[in-house]
Amino acid sequence: MIGELDSRQAELRELHSQVLACRACERAGLLWEAHPIAGGCATARVMVIGQAPGVRSMRSGRHFSGPGGRLLREWLARGGIPLERQEREVYLTSLTRCYPGPAPRGGSGDRKPSPAEVALCAPFLERELELLDPRLVLLVGSMAIERFLTRAPLRNVIGTIRERNGRQWLPLPHPSGVSRWLNDPSNRELVERALAAMREVVERELRSGY
Ligand code: SF4
Repeated sequence: MIGELDSRQAELRELHSQVLACRACERAGLLWEAHPIAGGCATARVMVIGQAPGVRSMRSGRHFSGPGGRLLREWLARGGIPLERQEREVYLTSLTRCYPGPAPRGGSGDRKPSPAEVALCAPFLERELELLDPRLVLLVGSMAIERFLTRAPLRNVIGTIRERNGRQWLPLPHPSGVSRWLNDPSNRELVERALAAMREVVERELRSGY
């Protein structure tokens, strides 16, 4: 008999196939070429939502493959999820699944996905939230924070945690070196506060699974 987890994993695999086959933004003229990425395990009870894959993630097919990913994994470990458990316990995803290309001339880093791209990709994310029903969601970067919590300067939200719809939502800055936000020691202090809040949630709500 197929168990609940097996059935969830099968549904997740089906969803990943749909993501990988998606060319909606290309058809709508929003992307020159769509290269979606998808993956992750149904056992995860923590979800990380970023903005969009970078060029390294597009090539590897895995979210957070760039240098920012190393710092993110370090944050997760300090937040109570050791490296060796992250594959199984943390589901990495983002608002959109295709590399949006570089920032327009004069800008640094990657282009932010447009509201139209985010809207087209939203059903995939909604379905992931529904299937995995994570206890804790880490919102990485301003776009993900705005989409699920609030539009506010990072300084006002990093270090806070909110409960909504039966789950905890923890805002974090993007860990890539593109933004200079993390260079300020007082901002790094806010990240420490966020990781302490994360440890509390992991210990309180997820202990049985760790
Ligand atoms: S960003 Fe999302 S909706 Fe757009 S083509 Fe890629 S997978 Fe499809």
